[in-house]
Amino acid sequence: MEADLVQRIFLGSSEIRQIRLGERMGGCGPYLIFKLLQDPTSKDLAHKLRYAHFCHVRLCPTCMWRRCLAWRARFYQAWPNIQKEYPTARYLHLVLTVPNCYVENVRDVMTQMSEAWRKMHNRRTWPFLGFIRSFEITRDKKGLAHPHIHALLMVESKYFATDLGLYRNREMWRKEWASALNVPKESLIHPYVRAVREKDRKASSDLVLEVAKYTMKGSDIIKWTRTGPGKEWFLELDRQVRGIRSVTLGGVIRKFINEDEISDLEMLEQDKVATGDFLNDLHYDWFPKEKHYIRTKVLSVVESEWWNRREKEWTEKRSS
Ligand SMILES: [Zn+2]
Repeated sequence: MEADLVQRIFLGSSEIRQIRLGERMGGCGPYLIFKLLQDPTSKDLAHKLRYAHFCHVRLCPTCMWRRCLAWRARFYQAWPNIQKEYPTARYLHLVLTVPNCYVENVRDVMTQMSEAWRKMHNRRTWPFLGFIRSFEITRDKKGLAHPHIHALLMVESKYFATDLGLYRNREMWRKEWASALNVPKESLIHPYVRAVREKDRKASSDLVLEVAKYTMKGSDIIKWTRTGPGKEWFLELDRQVRGIRSVTLGGVIRKFINEDEISDLEMLEQDKVATGDFLNDLHYDWFPKEKHYIRTKVLSVVESEWWNRREKEWTEKRSS
């Protein structure tokens, strides 16, 4: 499993901080406990999360994937309000890259890219209402790092009008990005741009999945960490991306979507408002092959009491 592999790499590091990350990753999300609740009048059943543990390590494959789903859920929930206030808004997917660099320089390159993005965003000619942006880093065959920005851009539909001069083709994007980075445009490849069909909530929120990309794909990590240099590369990447935000929001999108770190509850895309009478506690285990949680048992009265006591202790600890 990807998470086990990453955990082993961290545990094999010579740096105390990274060994600690490996320890923290142990037991990331293997089981969940839910309360099964029933509405006294409608008799509807609802699940309320009682216990989950996610390690929140930046490069943990489990957490990266869950965070990504949670960003999509946030966007999906905000969609009706965005539509109400900006009924004609459209969305674009933009990918901006720079030439590949040494993994030891990733942090500096990401800082330059963020700075260039800010510059573009502050220009008077910037036609976009808001954005969601993230960094993804891949590794090429020679072992160089390839950092790129994925962005979802929100724009008024007049952007596409042929006579207003707001629309940008790929060459215009390349020019704009090169001038913001202060490099010759010939040193950059043409950015990838694609517009989402009008008012398609599913396509737009799927785009968030694409944009709120995990910093590094778990399957990629597996591919090149079999060797010693690959493992070192990964540990260096962890040092480089430390403390750098993975997802950034800008413009009017911040009015609708909360920019805080993703919580454990959101990692499970749970509805926080489940209420009703308590029926049972349910235990779910994570099945890596199926890639989802499956209910494996109903807790006994004794076990439920144990959880009650634990919960009470946690609450007391938190309030003292
Ligand atoms: Zn994790």
